[in-house]
Amino acid sequence: ELLYSRGEEMRPADRSSRAVLGAVSGQESRSLYVHQVEENGEYKSVGDYAVPVFRDGEIWYIVLLRQSVTDIEETMQNNVMIILMASLLAIAVSAILAYILATGIARPIQRLNHRTKELATGNLDAADDLPKHTGSSDEIEELENNFSHMAQELSRILSETSSEKNKLETIFHYMADGLVVYDINGYVVQCNPAALELMGKGIRNESFGEAFPKEHFATLLYSPSGTIAERMLELDGHAVRAEFAAYGNKDGASEGLIVVLQDVTEQRRAEAMQREFVANVSHELRTPVTTVKSYVETILDGNIREEETLVPFLNVIDQESDRMTSLIAELLELSRIDNRQVQLRMEEVDLTELLADCVRRYRIHSEKKNQTMEMRPDCPEVPVLCDRSRIEQVIRNVLINAVNYSPEGAAVTAWSSIDTHRGEGTLHIADTGMGIPHKEQKRIFERFYRVDKARSRSSGGTGLGLAIAKEMMEMHQGRIEVESVPGKGSVFHLIFPLYRKESEDEEE
Ligand code: ADP
Repeated sequence: ELLYSRGEEMRPADRSSRAVLGAVSGQESRSLYVHQVEENGEYKSVGDYAVPVFRDGEIWYIVLLRQSVTDIEETMQNNVMIILMASLLAIAVSAILAYILATGIARPIQRLNHRTKELATGNLDAADDLPKHTGSSDEIEELENNFSHMAQELSRILSETSSEKNKLETIFHYMADGLVVYDINGYVVQCNPAALELMGKGIRNESFGEAFPKEHFATLLYSPSGTIAERMLELDGHAVRAEFAAYGNKDGASEGLIVVLQDVTEQRRAEAMQREFVANVSHELRTPVTTVKSYVETILDGNIREEETLVPFLNVIDQESDRMTSLIAELLELSRIDNRQVQLRMEEVDLTELLADCVRRYRIHSEKKNQTMEMRPDCPEVPVLCDRSRIEQVIRNVLINAVNYSPEGAAVTAWSSIDTHRGEGTLHIADTGMGIPHKEQKRIFERFYRVDKARSRSSGGTGLGLAIAKEMMEMHQGRIEVESVPGKGSVFHLIFPLYRKESEDEEE
């Protein structure tokens, strides 16, 4: 489009165009000068480009090139719109992506984070709350599954540890041996009821040095882990075996000391009794053996020729042999009782009748000492289940003792009684003899215990009769008791559970 025809004057608006002004001053436009021009009352954007043309060093004319830039502007506006729309779309897509990411990754991570915190506070069920399939990315799902598995494992291990701990605590609490745990500074960390029983309640507040003050204990506390030592202690009349074991951490550094206390008083007593028993047996056997041997030697020497002199010697030998025989028989009986080899032949027996029978049979012994042995009349029937021959042996022993430990002219009386309320029947054997001092009354049931050793021996006693009687009564669910006043006499009571036939029970 031609801007001007030949001779047409430049319009003032174009004259002020920067491109024209530049050309007038002799400069060629460097770029398109864009501005607005009015055309037919409408403004439109144009781009000017002006070049001065020189002749003889002077500007001869100016070439003005003008191009409408409306299309370019429109294109640019469209581009801006497109960019704007694209940006909005990008923002929207980002927002959606962000949302997806938030739900797909961030949420599960947050959830995991929350559960981890719960787990740290000890809520092991937190893992169970996790959804098994979250629909999130594989890695997150795997992470959640791993977490869930880890928490379940942790829960299992903790429950195993806790049941193990409970088991140990129960053992610790109820074990018969005392147990005290000290830390490396010698302070009590734990101690069980058995330890309090043995060492006294104060031990809880005592340091190791106070509880075990002797010098040779002190070094034990600082012994290397794994050191074990044993010491005997005397605590309030109890013999206590103390075992010390130093414990440490996994690196072997010593952390303290465990003390195990065992009351061995009973064991010691049993050992002492055992020793005493063996000594007693040896002694009891040696006495008759020595007597028999010396008498036999005297006879063998040939010094005794007459029969009258020989007979007393042979009598002594006979008596001593009898004593040995009964001693061995009683020892065997006790050994059978101890080894539970005694078979009781239980039958229904009326003890009153059995007692009367024994009194009749052994009266001859009392008569030898001018004593009387009587059964009281009108005694009640005492039905029991027992081994007749063994109970007869018990009654015999008590009756013979009554005769042996009573002087000439004494009286032995026997009777029976029943206590239906307690379901017990009792045989009583009383004598008017020497009696038994109060403090010895319990001991006469011990093996080989005699109040007067010489008297017992001279009467042929072995010191085992009442011990066997006591065992035998216990085997019959009964008991033997004594009441005695020294110098006045004794009463022995044989107490049995009464036997009731089933038909009688039903009648009741
Ligand atoms: P022993 O063979 O010595 O008689 P026992 O076991 O029968 O042994 O009796 C133990 C001791 O009990 C006797 O040695 C005696 O000291 C005492 N004893 C038993 N019965 C009586 C009694 N009736 N009166 C006084 N002491 C008795």
